Amino acid sequence: MAGTISARQVLTPQGWLANGVIAFDDAGTITAVGNEGFDPVQAVGTLLPGMANLHTHSFQRAMAGLAESRGPQGADDFWTWRQVMYRFLEVLTPEHVEAIAALVQLEMAEAGYTSSAEFHYLHHQPDGTPYADPAELSQPIFAASAESGIGLTHLPVLYTYGGLDGRELKSGQRRFGNTVDEYEALYARIAQLAAQMPADFRLGVAPHSLRAVDRAGIDACMALCPEGPIHIHAAEQVKEVEEVEAHLGARPVRWLLDNCPVDNRWCLIHATHMDAGETADLAASGAVAGLCPTTEANLGDGIFPARDYLAAEGRFGLGSDSNIRLSVAEELRMLEVSQRLAHRQRAVLTDDSTRSNGRYLYERAARGGAQAIGRRAGTIAVGHLADLVALRDDVPILNWPQPDQRIDGWVFGSEQRAVSEVWSAGRHIVRNGEHFRAQAIRGRFALAMDQLMRAL
Ligand code: ZN
Repeated sequence: MAGTISARQVLTPQGWLANGVIAFDDAGTITAVGNEGFDPVQAVGTLLPGMANLHTHSFQRAMAGLAESRGPQGADDFWTWRQVMYRFLEVLTPEHVEAIAALVQLEMAEAGYTSSAEFHYLHHQPDGTPYADPAELSQPIFAASAESGIGLTHLPVLYTYGGLDGRELKSGQRRFGNTVDEYEALYARIAQLAAQMPADFRLGVAPHSLRAVDRAGIDACMALCPEGPIHIHAAEQVKEVEEVEAHLGARPVRWLLDNCPVDNRWCLIHATHMDAGETADLAASGAVAGLCPTTEANLGDGIFPARDYLAAEGRFGLGSDSNIRLSVAEELRMLEVSQRLAHRQRAVLTDDSTRSNGRYLYERAARGGAQAIGRRAGTIAVGHLADLVALRDDVPILNWPQPDQRIDGWVFGSEQRAVSEVWSAGRHIVRNGEHFRAQAIRGRFALAMDQLMRAL
């Protein structure tokens, strides 16, 4: 699998390299970055470090369009959306999960994501009965990644109760629930299966949220996985912040910072609602804020305090979460334009040395995303995985003279067919804009959707 890639422009940690050549070995690790052997005939356009997708619930892709009408009380919000999601869970089989996950991973790759962290909370049969194999529904995610070639970090989720008062799981939640003992058995089984996964596979843990896991549950997760990533849904909804405050005596991000060893292994998904102190302290912790701008906008969550957080050198990465859209460019654009609207300014999220809004956000999201999912990637340098994305430079808007302007053109002006090639740990999975197994994966997805439509 070793190979070399020539590119007319390469984004390195030192800046742009013209007529660059990247070499990688059989393990998919970059061994050289330079100019030697540049091949102008085979060269791709603008080569960027690949983007990690740090937060996805793949099956939710198949719900797109089902939850966009107003609920019966004349209002629609996150909680009514969740009801649709629960109804969907009544009919989903392992075969559906695999067909949907493969399609989602294909769409991610074609959008420029090179790896993906599945926040995996679907464990049991629709009535809550465990499968004979506790990892029955992790296996379809693994099979999908073997087919799609995308780099996978698996985050099995611990979900113990239905709310902060410790209430029982309700109908739609029965597929999620595990005691700590059951979760330990699940984790052990997944760790066993991981031995057959590619070398760039990573395993982490995910206590679902402070709504669903208590202190003992978080401790159990940390004990199981002393080195891998730890992800938790933090502060997505105002109602959630109020509930956590009422039960635990502190806002959720504050509680996590004060009660858990939050450091660079941690990723706080939807740290949307933070006060100034939480914003500064999360930035100083070295943890990654897992931002999912299109989903957070779709669900009406609120606006993340990105200007202050980035000014404090806070780290962040991108997640596609509900997968209502799969677009690296749109996530970055949504992140920036929400700040423009809130602050009535332009080019909010950049600094005086980078200046380019698109490049500033892209570089930080790629680095932060890789950190969050435990992957040595996110920058084009020797010793890092060859997670690489090539943008076309033979179409208008993507061929401006300054390479920074090409990223800005992609993020703010164009995304259609912008990505031409994608490599994940050296695996060449998107070629001339199309995933190499597009036909088979799209065909199976269409069949699965057909069955789901009839079952719902
Ligand atoms: Zn989520």
